[in-house]
Amino acid sequence: MYKDTNCGEPRESAAGSQITVAGWVHRRRDHGNLIFIDLRDRSGLLQVVFNPKYSEKAHDLAGSLRSEWVVQVTGKVVTRLPGAENPDLPTGMVELSATDLVILNRSVTPPFEVSDEVEVDANTRLKYRFMDLRRPRMQEILKLRHEVIHIMWDYLTDKGFTQIETPILIKSTPEGARDYVVPSRVHPGNFYALPQSPQQLKQLLMVSGVERYFQIARCFRDEDLRTDRQPEHTQLDFEMSFVHQDDVMTIVEELYTRIVKETSPDTEISAPFPRLTYAESMERFGTDKPDLRFGMELTTITETAATSDAQVFQAMASSGGSIRGFSVPGCGDYGRRQTDNLTEFAKSSGAQGLVFIALDESAASIDALENDHIRSPLKKFLSVDVVKKIATEMGAEPGDLMLIVAGTEKLVNTVLSNLRNEMAKRLEMADPKQIAFAWVYDFPLFEWDEELKKYEPAHHVFSSPKAEHMDYLETNPGKVIGFLWDLVCNGSEMGSGSIRIHDKDLQTRLFNIIGYTEDQISDRFGQLLTAFTYGAPPHGGMGLGLDRLVAILAGEDAIREVIAFPKTQSAVDPLFEAPSPIEDQQLEDLHIRVVMPKS
Ligand code: ASP
Repeated sequence: MYKDTNCGEPRESAAGSQITVAGWVHRRRDHGNLIFIDLRDRSGLLQVVFNPKYSEKAHDLAGSLRSEWVVQVTGKVVTRLPGAENPDLPTGMVELSATDLVILNRSVTPPFEVSDEVEVDANTRLKYRFMDLRRPRMQEILKLRHEVIHIMWDYLTDKGFTQIETPILIKSTPEGARDYVVPSRVHPGNFYALPQSPQQLKQLLMVSGVERYFQIARCFRDEDLRTDRQPEHTQLDFEMSFVHQDDVMTIVEELYTRIVKETSPDTEISAPFPRLTYAESMERFGTDKPDLRFGMELTTITETAATSDAQVFQAMASSGGSIRGFSVPGCGDYGRRQTDNLTEFAKSSGAQGLVFIALDESAASIDALENDHIRSPLKKFLSVDVVKKIATEMGAEPGDLMLIVAGTEKLVNTVLSNLRNEMAKRLEMADPKQIAFAWVYDFPLFEWDEELKKYEPAHHVFSSPKAEHMDYLETNPGKVIGFLWDLVCNGSEMGSGSIRIHDKDLQTRLFNIIGYTEDQISDRFGQLLTAFTYGAPPHGGMGLGLDRLVAILAGEDAIREVIAFPKTQSAVDPLFEAPSPIEDQQLEDLHIRVVMPKS
């Protein structure tokens, strides 16, 4: 045994005992005759003191120690002298008086100090990820992630789920991204695709009679690079037979409540989670990922705004556009610089401009508003009455700042929902201790793709339309609502699920609506359609992002903080330097010739 005690363990009660510890030299301090080191292992730090009085040999050797060397120390736990205690350290009342030191390994000079307090640039952290992960904070996150998965396993096992691995080398399983592909050596010219999710596989498992499946599944999506996207992510993937929407939601609600309670006992969480239809979510928040930790809900003021003399408003209303906004409490005193800055922000989200109406706090009430209480670039076109009406509709109070955007409904919603989140961030409105889950359900089944000029599935093509919408599947696809829902939390999408189609004919109708040819259908989905003809049970399930969940529990913004070996934003692994060219021989074996793009 290299050690019988962990560095973070000894307390005063251990004083007098003989122990052996092993770990990394965190810091060394020479105090004349005495040499101190802080020894670190995953449990914490322990101060070790080398006194030549107890072992000259150990003391001499300790003089050569450097940061991150790996050592084994034997000695006696002693209580520190009064005044020498370190209250910031759990082991700070004691130290180890060393009698024996063994150097197990040396380290070259570390690229950065292993400490939570040191700021290191992102690329260096990933290049030396094995060092970065030594930091206590990263160790804590790795453990948290494990704990979350452990609870998932426990809970789902109790509920009768079976964990089943599905293949990584498979065929395209479209989830709206490009596939990562792997060339086959033994079948020249043929490729596997890495699963974008195990969607078809888990549905096949339902046809197989598994009834309750889950997997902590890796999903691979070759998407355009965006902030906080990873080429591969992990999700809790599950599927259930003989269930309705509520049954699936209940499983997640119970599981997620348990995860939050067990891993973050100080965090507020209330179940059942609020439920909003997609339409309601868009109306109130302008997004299908609402952050429910703060108010500032959106209001449509198209009609009222159109009664003003403002040309922009009149033109927008008469051309079928939308005028919406929200009121920011207490920001009625914003100056020019601040409102200009918000206008810039709105423009960066695509808005033509931003109209603000600032209400002076000296007004006794909205009813008592007078001309002098109002500031707005459109002031000369807005009568006091119109402002009062808009303020009432928006629920504004004197002292508030109303932010208004005009445009197509889609654009207005995008701009305002971004602006709402931005204002909440700037004003620190969201309680960081709160985890606000919500369900958004009744999503439309299809979205119109302006570029491709055709309907695309809003999620994926396997979700079931509502029975009452079947009749106009072909004639008005945009109006069809599905048994399709998302779990959202603090403004992020946490996962999505649906009740699936389990009928071959209906599934084929959906493929047709999104324009797949017969060949494409049989090539990509033939296996599923065939399986459906052998008695497929009604079924439904979800895919829930694990990385985002752990990030929220850990209070981290970026998912790369909770992935042991993540890629950079440009999909590169700086540690392995992946992706990288392969040997000519490998290309030859794979019958592949590389044609470099002309730059
Ligand atoms: N396969 C879906 C996804 O990865 C989730 C699901 O519908 O179960 O988003």
